[in-house]
Amino acid sequence: MKFLKKAYVKLIIISFALTISFGFLCNQMLKYVLDFNMKLVCDVYYEQVSLNVESDFKLLKSASEYLASNNTIIEYLTEKDVESKERILKRDKVLNELKDIEKILDTISFVEAINIVSFRDDYLFSRGSRQENFKIEERPWFNENFKQNFKNNSQITLKHIDYSTGKVTISVVSPIYKKINDTQKIGLPIGAVILDIYTENLLSYIENSFYENALDAEIYDSNSFQKDLQDDKNLVTYVNKNILNNGEYFVFKFDKSALINNEMTENYLTKMNYVFWAISFIISILLFTSIKITFRFTLKSIDKLKSILEKLDNKNYSINQKQTEFKQLETLADALNKSFDDKIRELIYYDELTKLPNRKFLEYTCKELIEKNECFALVFIDLNKFKYINDIFGHIVGDEFLIKFSRILQEATKEKGILTRYSGDEFILIYKNFKNEEELFEFYKSKIIRAFSTPIKINQELTTEISFSSGVAVYPKDAKTFEELINKSDFMMYINKKNLIDKKIAFFNEAMYAEILNTEKLKGELKYALENDEFYLNYQPIIDKNLNIKKAEVLIRWDSQNIGFVPPDKFIKYLEETRQIIPVGYWILENVCKNIKDFKFNGEKISISINISGIQIMLKDFVENVKNIVEKYNVDYSSLCFEITETILLDNKFFVAQNIKELQKLGVKFALDDFGTGYSSFNYLRNYDLDILKIDKSFLRDSSDLDFNIIEQIKGLSHLLNMEVVMEGVETQHQFDVMNKIGIDYVQGYFFSKPLSLQEFKNILNNKNF
Ligand code: C2E
Ligand code: CA
Ligand code: CA
Repeated sequence: MKFLKKAYVKLIIISFALTISFGFLCNQMLKYVLDFNMKLVCDVYYEQVSLNVESDFKLLKSASEYLASNNTIIEYLTEKDVESKERILKRDKVLNELKDIEKILDTISFVEAINIVSFRDDYLFSRGSRQENFKIEERPWFNENFKQNFKNNSQITLKHIDYSTGKVTISVVSPIYKKINDTQKIGLPIGAVILDIYTENLLSYIENSFYENALDAEIYDSNSFQKDLQDDKNLVTYVNKNILNNGEYFVFKFDKSALINNEMTENYLTKMNYVFWAISFIISILLFTSIKITFRFTLKSIDKLKSILEKLDNKNYSINQKQTEFKQLETLADALNKSFDDKIRELIYYDELTKLPNRKFLEYTCKELIEKNECFALVFIDLNKFKYINDIFGHIVGDEFLIKFSRILQEATKEKGILTRYSGDEFILIYKNFKNEEELFEFYKSKIIRAFSTPIKINQELTTEISFSSGVAVYPKDAKTFEELINKSDFMMYINKKNLIDKKIAFFNEAMYAEILNTEKLKGELKYALENDEFYLNYQPIIDKNLNIKKAEVLIRWDSQNIGFVPPDKFIKYLEETRQIIPVGYWILENVCKNIKDFKFNGEKISISINISGIQIMLKDFVENVKNIVEKYNVDYSSLCFEITETILLDNKFFVAQNIKELQKLGVKFALDDFGTGYSSFNYLRNYDLDILKIDKSFLRDSSDLDFNIIEQIKGLSHLLNMEVVMEGVETQHQFDVMNKIGIDYVQGYFFSKPLSLQEFKNILNNKNF
């Protein structure tokens, strides 16, 4: 059964049970309330009935006292009791009086008889006749106690057996006195009025005044009373000693069950029960509905959670079908929690593809080691041919390659450290307990290089050699922070990679690193050098054998605001790298053109040589731009010489030859700079009709005869190709003399002059006696 359905069935069962318990509870409560009410009813009725009986007895006492003060009766009892007509008449009169009273007392149904007794003559008037020999002293109730109280008041006797009927009776007895007047009584009582009451009648009169069988009234003497009063939950018992006031008790026992079981209460109970059942049923339905609404989403979610768990690859949980839904939910939540934790850790700290710890893990672990100040090394390993594999064989093979590589590397390094995947094809080994470079190098050689010494089978089709570059940085020797360690090991790896050194490991080198940092700084500064006007130009005179200045080479200088003077060897290559050499080159040309008309020596024009980078001469619009500048300042093209290097010619780029030719046509001279440092083949020179050849200063380094000989040969060939020859780097008189002897056309070098500022250059041109 589906989870949700099962939960609903349970909910229905629970609601049903709830209905029953609630209904039952209401029923019990009703009974309790009823019981309480009944007790209240009994209380009220007892109050009522006891008052009634008391007042009945008061009435009887008054009636008997009234009779006791009746003159006819007193007269009759006082007179001599002799047989006479007159006395018979008086007797009848008494009997009539009694009849009248009897009539009145008929309303009190339990009064059985009214008697008049004569103490002196022992007769008794009873039930309409006179009976003789009635001796009051023989009555069981006429004891000492009674006599004591009797003198003044009417009294109620103890229970006794009536002498004529044999029934249990109590009597109200009033004394009759001989009277002086209405208020004064004299002597002892001469008789008594006795009202007989059958207890049977009295009690049933009382009992019948209440619900049938619900009230049981009794009269007890103190002995039997104790025995008879047993505990009964259904009975509410009241005891009254005041009604009879003769030492005997009036006891009222109300039977609650009889009260409750009567038809009226039963009807009422049934109705109330129906109402309660209906209410509890409605409450249960409401409860069920509200629980269902509240928990529907939760319960539905459980099924969803189950499927999420399955997707999380968690097989480590089992739901016991016997468990309650909430227990199951708890189990699910626990499993989810654990799975999420695992999955999240996996997502955060592990690489999806290779399953290796990832960059985050690397960072976390390194920072932990740094915190503990443990010595360790980071070995940065980068695959060399990965891009090639990816491009040629596609990403799937690329992935397989990475997986394979990482497995082998991990296996090889596991005993000494943790291998992590840093990014694409970059891996970093955390080499723990670093001791020294030798030890690490030994490990690298014996474990890592050996593991990749033979080609590796990536899949069915591809088996390949694996090439990678490695760099190492050590904590705390080389770097103090995680970021620095990464940068430095990456840097060393990069140095190896740049030099295409396969599998070699490079330990961090401070000097090399500092240099690269300097270069980066320099490159940064260089970007703004032109706009900050940090460049200026030097001119170096070029002389003939008679020490006449015929030409000059313009050389760029950079005085950086932030890093000071930087020689051209250190920055030209970066200007080329960033193609900034183009605007800078035009700036130089423009500067030269601005000043060139002032450059005269002995009245003769000086030709200015400008170094032109390969980047510039390759430009399609180079000639156009040069023309614009030259013509702007109305400069004679023939007073300009562009120095280019061999590599420009060897590259043989499309516009190079064309540009050279066009500029030559305009009159610009072309010099081949630094001849002798590269290929130095005369072969290609034949294809270009260059004007000047500048022999590199390195030929003068030793000033050996061999060098001079070579210089001479170069000069010979140059002249053969119709090129003038300029010797660079002439520093001494001797060198100058040799050059003259050899027949070199022009000489440039410190022997005559270092590169000069514009002003110095102008001075030297105008001052013949230098
Ligand atoms: P280069 O074209 O061969 O320039 C000649 C270099 O030799 C200059 O160095 C110069 O100062 C130096 N030199 C001159 N006489 C002597 C000497 O007697 N002994 C020695 N040891 N050296 C001497 P610099 O100015 O440092 O320039 C170096 C290189 O920078 C130049 O070599 C050139 O290739 C490049 N360069 C300089 N200025 C420019 C420029 O404006 N544009 C371009 N594209 N490159 C330039
Ligand atoms: Ca040059
Ligand atoms: Ca040169």
